[in-house]
Amino acid sequence: MSESKTESEQASDQHFTTRRQVLIGLAAAPLAACASINAQAVPPRSAAAATGAAADLRATTVRAYGATGASSGIAPLTINRRAVGPHDVVLEVLYCGICHSDIHTVHGDWGGPTFPCVPGHEIVGRVLAVGSAVTKFRVGDYGGVGCMVDSCGTCENCQAGREQNCLNGTTFTYDSDDRVSGGKTFGGYSERMVVSERFVINIPPDADLAATAPLLCAGITTFSPMQHWRLGAGQKVGVVGLGGLGHMAVKLAAARRAEVTVFTTSPGKIADAQRLGAREAVLSTDSTAMRRFANYFDLMIATVPQAYPMQPFTDLLKLDATLVNVGALGQLEAPSGMSMAFGRKSIAGSMIGGIAETQEVIDYCSARNIKADVEIIRPDEINRAYERVVNKDIRYRFVIDMVAGRAG
Ligand SMILES: [Zn+2]
Ligand SMILES: [Zn+2]
Repeated sequence: MSESKTESEQASDQHFTTRRQVLIGLAAAPLAACASINAQAVPPRSAAAATGAAADLRATTVRAYGATGASSGIAPLTINRRAVGPHDVVLEVLYCGICHSDIHTVHGDWGGPTFPCVPGHEIVGRVLAVGSAVTKFRVGDYGGVGCMVDSCGTCENCQAGREQNCLNGTTFTYDSDDRVSGGKTFGGYSERMVVSERFVINIPPDADLAATAPLLCAGITTFSPMQHWRLGAGQKVGVVGLGGLGHMAVKLAAARRAEVTVFTTSPGKIADAQRLGAREAVLSTDSTAMRRFANYFDLMIATVPQAYPMQPFTDLLKLDATLVNVGALGQLEAPSGMSMAFGRKSIAGSMIGGIAETQEVIDYCSARNIKADVEIIRPDEINRAYERVVNKDIRYRFVIDMVAGRAG
């Protein structure tokens, strides 16, 4: 990224020391001074834009949905949004996907979050106002926010477009130290957000907005490893797990004309996998079927959201091939060193993707009409949706209609 410098460049050189810090950016920089308020509202470009809330560049209180404790469930609350700085965009949140990470976080599976915690990092909204120096957006445009809202912008990873791997601490969209205004960041289960334009993705105006929201986490998370490991036409890719991430992995790999095989524990998803673009789907509990794929795959993308025995899957990798974990972020159940050495196999991790790559997946999907399969809900249905995600009873992504929440 080559954007102009911000207060966040005062970031410390402190490095991450624990996985928890990596996950939520606790090692982020000391909090910088409050944002400038010398921003200018731009007149609405369209009638649609004029229907949004009046542009107000001061810090505001907005309605949100969040957890006040690990067992509180998600309930309405109010949160503060910072004053609009020169490089900030104000988004009216229209849709926000429910990612399994939201559930892990509020349940404290990755260590306790700071409460109140407002999740949500698959966000599509409409630009209500922009700061005086914003060039990327005008009022009325559609913008997307994924899993991060800030980074130092100067370390070698940020400079290489890998803001998710910022050496000074990525600021994640929720439950992360806000390096601009202090306190914790609050996510997309809210009426409105204030985000630096560097971290807002352009959403095409003709996009199916609800079905585009999940691309900002589930889409980029599965697209990025396909780019990095150069998955190409005719190559064989295994997708482990068919949930929110898995169903996007199937669609994105099929779009590259790779040969896709899905591994699931749900017999009811076998036919679905083929509808989504897989050549075959296999019950991973069926050891006979698993043996057919020994030494078969060029790449495997494991989307399972918790630890799982990896050996049965690494056994399916070809020589020199890689299994990439994009879902399981806790302790892994590693395979034997012997089996990895004999096949010169690799296990890798990958977390979302950079901002430029996130724009790329949005544009890629827009050009090919690739969308998430979504079930749209109202905010008062979030708790029930969480239960259904945990019970694997969703095909394949819940998306909250935040405008419906305001109407109610
Ligand atoms: Zn996510
Ligand atoms: Zn950085």
